[in-house]
Amino acid sequence: MAFDLSNLLVIAISSSALFDTRKEHEIYIQNGVDEYVKYQIDNENNILSPGTAFPLIEAMLRLNKLTENNQIVEVVILSQNEPEASLRIMNSVENHNLSITRAVFTGGENVAKYLKSYNVSLFLSRNETDVKDAIEIGIAAGLLYDPPDKIETEINQLRIAFDGDAVIFSDEAEKIYQEKGLEAFVEHERANAEKPLPEGPFAPFLKIISKIQNDHKAREQGGIPPIRTAIVTARNSPAHKRAILTLRAWGIKVNETFFLGGISKDQILKEFRPHIFFDDQEVHAKPASALVPSARVPVKKVKKQDKNQLAIPLFENYSATNKQNE
Ligand SMILES: [Mg+2]
Repeated sequence: MAFDLSNLLVIAISSSALFDTRKEHEIYIQNGVDEYVKYQIDNENNILSPGTAFPLIEAMLRLNKLTENNQIVEVVILSQNEPEASLRIMNSVENHNLSITRAVFTGGENVAKYLKSYNVSLFLSRNETDVKDAIEIGIAAGLLYDPPDKIETEINQLRIAFDGDAVIFSDEAEKIYQEKGLEAFVEHERANAEKPLPEGPFAPFLKIISKIQNDHKAREQGGIPPIRTAIVTARNSPAHKRAILTLRAWGIKVNETFFLGGISKDQILKEFRPHIFFDDQEVHAKPASALVPSARVPVKKVKKQDKNQLAIPLFENYSATNKQNE
């Protein structure tokens, strides 16, 4: 019988997201594909060390132990790597005791076209084109930064932190901020507080995570809940209301919500200790990546007419500007 992926949370990951292959990538860039493949073959039994998404994948696969004989998560390696170089990757998977048996190595070809056939709900990669293509076809995808020097995550609990606008929610409100400024944004969000925001690229994934949480309420059984989620957003009052009412309308409970209004996200994230943080803006995701594993969600930006605005990272000075406008 064919293996059925339809009832599983399928995560696709590139080999360089799972393992730290920065040295190998450098060989590829400096010396070309042949030297790279030779290096990988020569080092086939030299096990790769964990990459940015490794702790997340480990934690995701642990969800399969929540119930006996009831798989929840399937992880597939989806890589542009050369098939000849793949043995080192699979040896590393085995050595790290990761239950991953399915892999695709396309030898330099774009991999996004295979995401739908694997019923993928989350795609993680270091290749910007692949990640952008995945988002284009409606799949939650993150472009991973280098791993932090030291990763401290909860061993017994999967933790994921998301930005709000352009990640969980659509970028509708952010576009108003970009095109018309902060005052118009606040007014728009106040006027539309009762109207749920459209879904962003990570809404379907968050809904699946929320369903798994509902199915496994360990707290009621006296244990630690297996998953904890957080939204870490630059929105603050009064724009917080629409975000809360949107989640309520979707029937989703997020465990922690931070309406930061200009406070930097990285220190909050350091305390929350997520296995991964997703944000669409470099200005938030990059500083966070030094402290917790982080990925950027490369959604299409609105073309800015005023070139002076190019220097203003969205929402960065939200609180300060908000005060000025009040
Ligand atoms: Mg955002």
